[in-house]
Amino acid sequence: MPMFSRRRVSRRASSNICCIRRELLESVMEASRHSLPNEFAAGLAARGDTITEMIIIPATRSNFHSASFNYHSILGSFSAVGTVHSHPSGYIIPSAPDLRLFSSVGRVHIIVGYPFGEDSWAAFRKDGTRTELRVV
Ligand code: ZN
Repeated sequence: MPMFSRRRVSRRASSNICCIRRELLESVMEASRHSLPNEFAAGLAARGDTITEMIIIPATRSNFHSASFNYHSILGSFSAVGTVHSHPSGYIIPSAPDLRLFSSVGRVHIIVGYPFGEDSWAAFRKDGTRTELRVV
């Protein structure tokens, strides 16, 4: 059954995420710059062990923290493994609402901070602890 096999792919793809595509990271930084002074937010999709795409949720562009309902629906899709959002403050530590979101959906969460350069980001697990993602 198609539904069943999609779910199996989902579990395998999201269980061991180690990498993120460089082009995707650059797109996230670009979108975050464009969204200033607001936050940018999107879902993340992976192929195998690598995060390859964003899932854009237009309604969340300017108000990430009140959009958890949309996040839940997007993360129900077979390819979503986590979230990414920007902190225009430049402070790349999860806030209390971020930690609640992380623990409730997805497996890998990325926060990017102003000035949205190559190194101004961090990845977190469900429990809010840091994790490393290799840029490939
Ligand atoms: Zn945040």
